[in-house]
Amino acid sequence: MSGHDATPLSVVLPVLNELDNLEPLHARLTEALEPMGREYEVIYVDDGSTDGSWEGLKKIAARDRRVRLVRFRRNFGQTSALAAGLAYSRHPILVTLDADLQNDPADIPRLVERLGDSYDVVAGWRRHREDPWLTRLLPSHVANFLVRLVSGVPLHDFGCTLRVYRREIVQDLSLYGEMHRFLPVLAQEVGGRVTELEVVHHPRTHGVSKYSVLRTYKVLVDIITLKFIGDFQSRPTYVFGGFGLFALMLGFLALDVVAYRVFVLGRLEATPMVFLMVIFFLTGVFSLFIGFLAEIVIRGFHHTQRKPTYHVRETVGVDRTG
Ligand code: UDP
Ligand code: MG
Repeated sequence: MSGHDATPLSVVLPVLNELDNLEPLHARLTEALEPMGREYEVIYVDDGSTDGSWEGLKKIAARDRRVRLVRFRRNFGQTSALAAGLAYSRHPILVTLDADLQNDPADIPRLVERLGDSYDVVAGWRRHREDPWLTRLLPSHVANFLVRLVSGVPLHDFGCTLRVYRREIVQDLSLYGEMHRFLPVLAQEVGGRVTELEVVHHPRTHGVSKYSVLRTYKVLVDIITLKFIGDFQSRPTYVFGGFGLFALMLGFLALDVVAYRVFVLGRLEATPMVFLMVIFFLTGVFSLFIGFLAEIVIRGFHHTQRKPTYHVRETVGVDRTG
């Protein structure tokens, strides 16, 4: 790579009741972004705040024309907030981070530089995390291990919002549930080049965490969905078909045994083998048909317009062209 890379950045932050963080956060963001010498926009997505965050954001947007705001009608969750930020953003490089100053804006230039021409996703790794051990770090270590195992994407930290993405690789990925954390997995599935970089993590100084341990359960369900979608979405018939053919094979084996008993031994009776034969045949045939059905459903799914997972009340500055 030669010369100065000035590809513009879109910085996206999900905001739920972070009023006391907003001013220092925006100051630190500006401090980190201005020296990069690139055009940029900062998109704050207010995910149904009730503490006056929206008014705080509007004040910031009135001062800084690089700021754009999106306000949800109610709380739709961090994943939806990030999806909306993505949808409203315009620049080729996308930066996401939390709005509570646990992620440090000062890490952004390093992550962007790492993206360079060689990567499509650079994920932050909060190597030294400032969160409680039992309720946060332990479940997170287990979840990270499972995602690595299931996805084969070798990241340490799937829970860190601070990341840099190339827009072209993430814009068509669908985001729901707690799926924003698995964006690197979805990105790698479509051929994206994914890497990680250690980032700083601070304890929360203002406001409270928006999550309880309940999130662990959601994340676990999402990991299963991830595996299911990954394996099944391309060709469900391979999975159901494989099972169906296997059951049919067992059915034919059972048929042999039954036929041997009837025709060679001359015993016409309802042995357990007869029931097994019937069950294997039925399971086999049904599995094949379910596989075909799943295939049709999946094809329909890929062709329908995706329903948005959020609803916007108002926006500030998103129509500006400059
Ligand atoms: N957040 C959000 N919607 C939600 C929950 C959280 O926009 O429903 C935002 C929150 O304001 C913060 C980021 O997502 O900017 C991460 O949330 P939090 O700090 O509570 O998570 P933790 O760091 O405790 O995992
Ligand atoms: Mg936090």
